[in-house]
Amino acid sequence: MSQQVHDPHDKYWKAELETLPRPELEALQLKELKAEVAFAYAHSPYYKRSWDAAGVSPESLKSLADLAKFPFVDKQIERTTQGVGSFLGELCCVPEDDVVFVSSSSGSSGVPTMSPFTQNDFDEFQDVESRWFWQAGMRPNDRYIHALNFSLYVGGPDVIGAQNLGALCIWGGTLPSERLIFVLQNYQPTCIWTSPSYAWMLGNTCKKKGIDPKTDLSIKRIFVAGEMGGSISSTRKAIEDLWGAELFDFYGLSDIFGACAAQCEAHDGLHIAEDHILVETVDPSTGELLKPGEQGELCYTTLRKKARPLIRFRSGDIGHVNLEPCSCGRTHARIYVDGRKDDMFIVSAVNVFPSDIENVVRGIPELTGEYEIRIFDENYTTRYEVRVEKTPDTELDRDEVAARTKRALKGRTGVNPVGVIVEDAGTLQGSTHKATRVIDERKKSL
Ligand SMILES: [Zn+2]
Repeated sequence: MSQQVHDPHDKYWKAELETLPRPELEALQLKELKAEVAFAYAHSPYYKRSWDAAGVSPESLKSLADLAKFPFVDKQIERTTQGVGSFLGELCCVPEDDVVFVSSSSGSSGVPTMSPFTQNDFDEFQDVESRWFWQAGMRPNDRYIHALNFSLYVGGPDVIGAQNLGALCIWGGTLPSERLIFVLQNYQPTCIWTSPSYAWMLGNTCKKKGIDPKTDLSIKRIFVAGEMGGSISSTRKAIEDLWGAELFDFYGLSDIFGACAAQCEAHDGLHIAEDHILVETVDPSTGELLKPGEQGELCYTTLRKKARPLIRFRSGDIGHVNLEPCSCGRTHARIYVDGRKDDMFIVSAVNVFPSDIENVVRGIPELTGEYEIRIFDENYTTRYEVRVEKTPDTELDRDEVAARTKRALKGRTGVNPVGVIVEDAGTLQGSTHKATRVIDERKKSL
């Protein structure tokens, strides 16, 4: 795709589109949705069969609200339809010859799913990535290191969005920390994308080597995705202080794009590309449509993808949507993700997410920020316990640190942990990439 010309002082990548008044934005969505649904019905054996069975068809769609009449799809349907009838399966709407790229999910929760793109799907995906990079302040004079996995992962190619914007791009991938630090020192990139836990670990590794990320390196912007940390204000602040940089949370779905939504300078929710993706919130148990602002499962519909349109895709992510215009001037909705449906645990009828606990742990100065959550059943009741580490220089003793942490956890989540165990710094394993900090013993104790 030819590079677009932008003045570095331009605030927006696509000014008119990003600031479209909501009625016009919704009119655009309806037009795109009608075309997408008609295309899916005509070309996907699965959608045809599923919608016929549900008594809906493209003609059922007169308004955006009519979308709620259509059945959902989910990861399980992606899995069971892939490879059926053809290599790419029954959700795919184009011949394989038109597909130029497939990514694959990690398969951490089952058989990996492929995500196919036509050339136009791919170009539009990269234009959305350019939009997020521009929104986060990247300009053509930036040097960018893309420190995300390139192997099968849909986030790998996002680097092309930065190249199309005109930045100098370094395809870092998953370099070992030693090599990555060498690149940071010698090429002095100004922007980096990694996971929040890795950004934290990498900055601390630099410090141990006598390199101060704030003064010895040039990183001014950090993009993060793949974990909750980027939207947890205390985690964001800790990473920003460590690096002397501004952190922007990005949110992607391997099923749609590398990043589908991203924070702007207001850091209040993540703008979703509503010209490409329609978002609904549904009750995670019943599937009933919820109102904007209500917490529920985020459900996405692609508006322009042709290789594999996703109509009402249940993401498994719990959060809410804000339709109010943002202080940055953009009108596209902002999403707030609280966590994975599968990670949520219920204590005394209260929904608790590991991200709530992280927020508390990262906000207490006497703690190192590392933590481990143990969830277990006791007398048929779910309980949780948290292990944390106290910093070596705190004057508080373990009991005082534990009491303080316990109070803060109750304040944030509404429910007390059974206990807070305070360890010395360095006891709990820091994470290199995607962190596993939750030990769920409930299934074992049944
Ligand atoms: Zn904004």
